[in-house]
Amino acid sequence: MQTEKEEIDKLEQAHIDFISTVSHELRTPLTSIRGFAETLLSSYDKLTPEQREKFLLIIKDQSNRLINLVENLLTVSKMQSDKELMVYKAVDVIPVIESCIQIIKNQYKTHQYECNFEKNIPKILVDSDKLQQILINLLDNASKYSSENSIVTVIVKQNYDEDLVIITVKDQGAGIKEEDITKIFNKFSRIDSPLTRKIQGNGLGLFITKTLVEKMQGKIDVKSSPLGSEFIITFKAATLEDNGIKKIKE
Ligand code: ADP
Repeated sequence: MQTEKEEIDKLEQAHIDFISTVSHELRTPLTSIRGFAETLLSSYDKLTPEQREKFLLIIKDQSNRLINLVENLLTVSKMQSDKELMVYKAVDVIPVIESCIQIIKNQYKTHQYECNFEKNIPKILVDSDKLQQILINLLDNASKYSSENSIVTVIVKQNYDEDLVIITVKDQGAGIKEEDITKIFNKFSRIDSPLTRKIQGNGLGLFITKTLVEKMQGKIDVKSSPLGSEFIITFKAATLEDNGIKKIKE
């Protein structure tokens, strides 16, 4: 049994670790933005147009990285406070998935996206915006951790016995090692590999995804092999009474 003091110490340590990680995550892109802006200002005439464009693209890239980080941090802070308003409604998942695929397709133009939807999938009782956030995170990961021209497949099935709707996002990427699978859902957790180092991310996406899925009484599982990964989310099918709108302040 933990004493009250031990519990407070643990919380304080988690808070210190959080601030230190966030500061580090902010400092890296900021240092790079400042460095390239200084070079452009001090040596503009000495640089070739190609070099200038390259430096400006790095500044843009790093600014996007900061925006993503700040947006994810705001989501985490809202999720962990009691301020998050969840608007539960019986939602048809197919159009939500289709619109998420359209959004992702615009970012990953060389990937192929395939859908494999069973017929007559029942609605599920979720907050539609949060479901969209979950699917975008999974589709984004499936695309960025797999090579160009590879296929990302979304499968939607129903489990009739238990009245479940099962959504799988499957990729053909390098996969996640068995020993890393438990870590990927932790805050700021990124698996260190030559591949991950080249890909932008802050390790908050899957933490946010899992928290949102579980807030909406769903479940998330992963299956992975060197041939690719599958992220499987499961929700209970909505009942007839679920068709009204419920607003719940968590
Ligand atoms: P981010 O992508 O910002 O690093 P996430 O929380 O979304 O953060 O993912 C955590 C880590 O899990 C990633 O850094 C990556 O190592 C691993 N990962 C997530 N999705 C996949 C995937 N589809 N294929 C391979 N690795 C993945």
